[in-house]
Amino acid sequence: MNAPQPITILQTPVHPVTMAQTLGLVRRFMAQPRLHQICTTNPEFVMAAQRDPLFRRILWEADLCIPDGVGLLLAGRWLGTPLPARVPGSALIYHLAELCAREGWRPFLLGAAEGVAKETAHILQHIYPALQVAGVYAGSPALAENEAIVQRINASSADVLLVAYGAPRQDKWIYRNRQKLPTVRLAIGVGGSFDFVTGRAKRAPLWVQNLGLEWLHRLAHEPWRWRRMLALPRFALRVLFSVKHET
Ligand code: UDP
Repeated sequence: MNAPQPITILQTPVHPVTMAQTLGLVRRFMAQPRLHQICTTNPEFVMAAQRDPLFRRILWEADLCIPDGVGLLLAGRWLGTPLPARVPGSALIYHLAELCAREGWRPFLLGAAEGVAKETAHILQHIYPALQVAGVYAGSPALAENEAIVQRINASSADVLLVAYGAPRQDKWIYRNRQKLPTVRLAIGVGGSFDFVTGRAKRAPLWVQNLGLEWLHRLAHEPWRWRRMLALPRFALRVLFSVKHET
């Protein structure tokens, strides 16, 4: 199974995949001896890509951009190119951990605040006892630390790399190091997923998720995000306008 053709939302690619198809692609990526990059695209990514050509190029070159945001599903429907499902990065991390445990792939957990990656690894190993973790490290996306982190990951011979530096820093970190990590076959920017696994941040209750209002829950619990989340109404307006413009 190859990644399906991406749909395009404001010149940004999003792959029309379900969680099951994502996991199928992960297996396929892991069978090939090169680093594959997955991005967890949401409307904030799309808006950031409008003014950041490097980030846009990274999204286009990524092997898979999963639809991690209900806004993308609404946009896809509006644009006449519907996406089949939302694939949240915060859920994917558990599926990935389970697959790693089953297949013997060893993930390296990079990023988040001091101690959070380690705690995430412990929790995932508790849920999936067969999971072997190659390494954990907070580090920072600063260039000064780049080579030391690359060496650390290479010394661990990790198969999978989860990077929690927030977008677009995490995606740029993976992109600039993609040729330097010979053992890694899959690298994914996981945003705040370690904070969710460790309970530092709470996902919305299922019924709120089902209403497509997880973003509102996040805003209520992390109000300092309001400025970043202005990307959402801007995204909605741009998508509405882009159709008006084309028709
Ligand atoms: N983060 C980090 N170093 C940085 C910036 C962010 O480790 O220089 C971590 C932060 O602790 C958090 C993660 O990046 O665990 C993701 O942050 P955020 O929730 O803002 O990302 P999003 O999910 O919105 O992409």
